[in-house]
Amino acid sequence: MSFPVKFIFVTGGVVSSLGKGLASAAIGALLESRGLTITLQKLDPYINVDPGTMNPFQHGEVFVTDDGAETDLDLGHYERFTRAKLGCNNNFTTGKIYDSVITKERRGDYLGGTVQVIPHITDEIKERILSVAKGVDVVIVEIGGTIGDIESLPFQEAIRQFKSDVGKENVLYVHLTFVPYIAAAGEVKTKPTQHSVKELRSIGIQPDILLCRTDQFLSKEIKAKIALFCNVDVDQVITAKDVETIYEVPLVFHQEHLDDKIVGLLNIWTRAPRLGDWERLVEKIKNPGDSVTIAIVGKYIHLRESYKSLNEALCHGGIANDCKVNLDFVDSETIDESSCQQRLGTAHGILVPGGFGARGIEGKMNAIAFARKEKTPFFGICLGMQVGVVEYARNVAGMEGAHSIEFDEATPFPVIYLMREWFDYKSQQVQKRDITSDKGGTMRLGDYPCVLKEDSLAYRAYGKKEISERHRHRYEFNNAFKEKLEQAGLVMSGTSPDGQLVEIVEIADHPWFLGCQFHPEFKSRPMNPHPLFVSFIEAALAYKKESEKD
Ligand code: GLN
Repeated sequence: MSFPVKFIFVTGGVVSSLGKGLASAAIGALLESRGLTITLQKLDPYINVDPGTMNPFQHGEVFVTDDGAETDLDLGHYERFTRAKLGCNNNFTTGKIYDSVITKERRGDYLGGTVQVIPHITDEIKERILSVAKGVDVVIVEIGGTIGDIESLPFQEAIRQFKSDVGKENVLYVHLTFVPYIAAAGEVKTKPTQHSVKELRSIGIQPDILLCRTDQFLSKEIKAKIALFCNVDVDQVITAKDVETIYEVPLVFHQEHLDDKIVGLLNIWTRAPRLGDWERLVEKIKNPGDSVTIAIVGKYIHLRESYKSLNEALCHGGIANDCKVNLDFVDSETIDESSCQQRLGTAHGILVPGGFGARGIEGKMNAIAFARKEKTPFFGICLGMQVGVVEYARNVAGMEGAHSIEFDEATPFPVIYLMREWFDYKSQQVQKRDITSDKGGTMRLGDYPCVLKEDSLAYRAYGKKEISERHRHRYEFNNAFKEKLEQAGLVMSGTSPDGQLVEIVEIADHPWFLGCQFHPEFKSRPMNPHPLFVSFIEAALAYKKESEKD
């Protein structure tokens, strides 16, 4: 059977965190640069139905797509590196697969058969892979976990079967492995790679391309050794060298002829790659004209992956301003009124990101009060906006004890509250929820429209009135306090089209103070930086120049 769509499966070996997500995204970028249309999909071996309920400390950021899917952070890389439009079909977990197989079994769909991993689970996996294969030339599928893990076996078996289902000329297996440099021996070691490939072959998958993660270019001899032991041609062994900026990955892969190899092996005819945009981007990142320091006051600071998209969006804002953005992660639990000056006084901008739970809230409030009074550019995102509203209510509008009911159900001024009923634009239905609602998938999720007030900071940044941004939160601004807060000087510069949901707040007599209920970082791209981040970094630069004058 001839099958027009090509499939690339990316697996990882030896250790986790080698950058499989980035490698997959970079392959996507290279194929797009040759004029191909691609999509990406991530298969995650854990049992959670989606990562929405997982602690960012364990799993890093939850990335939200336009359609409101709570997904693995690798989808963030995919969207930042490529033009692929991703949604709920682009990430699924073992939990989701079992959930749907068990639902089918309960419905009687298997007609009395014994439901088994092979074929029922593997068929379900293959169906999900095929579900994203419409309208594209190439599907890149990343398998989470490391080869050898028990829990990813059904995925590995499914992708093994996939080759005979769609024809061997349409499938390519790329294996990302580790080639460590052992200082004591003064050489790189290929044994872990040999073992990992042996493992892969024992389940019936012969990798076509080996991406070898290492800190130095591999010599011809080392490549030849890996090729010999792993049963691939020497030009199918690619050095995946450590880079200064992640946006360099497509370029180093290209230098190693990875894209040529892929299109050759898959027998696809394409134009020559156009990588000028990537080259200019990397050049700009490596040679910034200036730098600013942004303090990120949050509670997940010990795992940088928890703020992945945020870190990238700040970097993009810097690119647009020809400026390097240094990130200073500040543990919100350590910030009291007396430590603000010392800890935050040298920052050129202060940002309070999204988050859940009470820990560190008072510290965030102190940081916001400091930014408000010192006129330091301040950006509050989701929880950061909510705490900003609470701070303003308490300290400017005179509402003593104001709070979000997430943290104090008995507050006399619930300025942030749980909407019991709200109109859901996506389903076009009224949604209901209360504190007993399930935790999974019950937040306001995904893209929602927002209308901006003219002559606001937000309007100036976006340069247009109608925007739409991605959400992930349970609590909302409480309109019962809108008037009082407005009278005290808080500007509601963005609302839902019906005016019911406050999406952006600002302080008029502050150079740059903006809180948004949505997560703008999810839509920022290196080649198309998000307007709010561009404007925030611009303000931080101005603040830096101003303070250098003093
Ligand atoms: N915890 C807050 C809420 O649920 C904010 C969530 C967030 O910052 N993403 O509304």
